[in-house]
Amino acid sequence: MERIRAYYEGDIENKLGSPTKYKTDENQNELFCSICGQKVFVNELIFKDVTKIIEKTSENPFLCESCIDEYEDLAHSH
Ligand SMILES: [Zn+2]
Repeated sequence: MERIRAYYEGDIENKLGSPTKYKTDENQNELFCSICGQKVFVNELIFKDVTKIIEKTSENPFLCESCIDEYEDLAHSH
């Protein structure tokens, strides 16, 4: 899980914009959360980043916001 953590340590909200549950002017690209499977829309930067990782590793590193929260709770409780 280290790789996922590193990916999200860069502050997504400031640098890359926030994923949304609906399509917006900025978020036109569809991704699925790798944990709960929820559909989320992201901007070009996030989409390219995530698809690059998927191409390299065949693993989806993307987590929706609620799964990030849960993941962080888990990480902090250890
Ligand atoms: Zn999720």
